Amino acid sequence: MTSLNSGNTQNPADIAVVGAGIIGVACALRLARQGKRVVVIDHQDPGHGASFGNAGHLATEQVFPIADLSILKRLPAMLMDPMGPLRLDWRYMPRALPWFTRLLLNLRPAPFQRTVAGIRALNESSLGAWQRLLETIARPDLLKEDGSLLVFERPDSGQAIDALQARMRHQAVPVDLWQASAVREVAPQLSEHIQGGLFFPRTGHFLDPYRVVGELVKAAKASGVQFIKHQVTGGRVQEHGVSLLTHQGSLTARQVLIACGAHSARLTAALTGKKVPLDTERGYHLMLPHEHQRLPFAVTSLERKFIMTPMADGLRLAGTVEFAGLDSPPNMERAWQLHRLSKGLFKRDLNAEAATPWMGFRPSLPDSLPIIDRVCDGKVLLAFGHQHLGLTQAAVTAELIGRMVLPASPTGVHALPAVEAYRLDRF
Ligand SMILES: Cc1cc2nc3c(=O)[nH]c(=O)nc-3n(C[C@H](O)[C@H](O)[C@H](O)COP(=O)(O)OP(=O)(O)OC[C@H]3O[C@@H](n4cnc5c(N)ncnc54)[C@H](O)[C@@H]3O)c2cc1C
Repeated sequence: MTSLNSGNTQNPADIAVVGAGIIGVACALRLARQGKRVVVIDHQDPGHGASFGNAGHLATEQVFPIADLSILKRLPAMLMDPMGPLRLDWRYMPRALPWFTRLLLNLRPAPFQRTVAGIRALNESSLGAWQRLLETIARPDLLKEDGSLLVFERPDSGQAIDALQARMRHQAVPVDLWQASAVREVAPQLSEHIQGGLFFPRTGHFLDPYRVVGELVKAAKASGVQFIKHQVTGGRVQEHGVSLLTHQGSLTARQVLIACGAHSARLTAALTGKKVPLDTERGYHLMLPHEHQRLPFAVTSLERKFIMTPMADGLRLAGTVEFAGLDSPPNMERAWQLHRLSKGLFKRDLNAEAATPWMGFRPSLPDSLPIIDRVCDGKVLLAFGHQHLGLTQAAVTAELIGRMVLPASPTGVHALPAVEAYRLDRF
């Protein structure tokens, strides 16, 4: 078997990061800046997984798991309606059932509260961590810290909005209730039917999530990180490190960080012996290149259940959750459905000429918390399962991984969440 250690078998990398999504790349940069020799391995170019096409929303307000008990009532519709916002492919149902069972168990009051506390702890540190990270690469312009808005159209949704505002306030999420006139003032192109909304001032959006990965890669390379394009097929923890297998050969490193997003379960099992209940909530976007000036910031529709984010290359409509696993092909009709859903939300319909559809795999665990951990005597690090919030939580995850690797590093000066809630052994 060939060695991939840059021809240097005597001197393996300190840390091999598997996965060059936003999580892996942010961690690689952090570790390199802490003085580690880092190599990143991915069979795709960096940022071509879920991190490519997300909605770009720094969603610090989203402290509740995506599901609540109403999911039970919606199950028949999920199975029947291929275009619904939440979709379960009936062919995938047998494989999804154990995951769903765990999800439902996690909706009981005590685990639900643990989940909310765990998401909240990460989200509360997310904006500060991103500000620090973007400052270190001299690109604070990539993030617009201009808030986001959840609008509602039906007068009878007012009660749901009030209830949501109360729940969010209870979780210390900064939120303001806007009347219709306030919405009209800042987003005059939205329909007259908009009744008002909730504005979240401590949120923001990235102008191009893929570009963010690219800029972090550039900075990582400048800090000495090496990028290798191979698929990792397995691995083994050894006495003095970890060996990884690829189709092209093997690679050894003192430590390995698994950051393969929705594809992390296999390597985790190979290295730790632990079977994690990781599944994917597939999501879609439709990028509208002719719609630059429609919205000042990210706007979500309460009733239509999707988000619209103004980006450098146009307006991105994104959302929907589809349970159909990692292997079945995308149903791009779901991406086009986002355009149909937008009809009536604006005074003039959105122009979908030259629009591009996309599907990506959100990495989701049934308690809606990521795994961020250090196991196997510190030889294996884990950072995956960030579900709907991987972009939001990438910078704080990198700080946490940095602290796990070098507890005395300068990361310590920022208050970081305790990692107990994100441990592997909760499964
Ligand atoms: C439609 C949609 C909208 C979203 N909107 C938002 C949002 O607004 N805000 C937010 O915070 N989050 C959002 N998310 C979620 C966010 O995109 C993900 O949580 C995040 O991108 C996960 O990043 P990652 O690095 O863990 O995974 P990925 O970006 O998927 O990266 C994993 C990488 O691992 C590589 N890999 C996998 N297996 C192997 C292997 N065996 N060997 C080598 N490499 C391997 C893959 O090629 C990939 O590059 C959204 C997701 C979707 C789908």
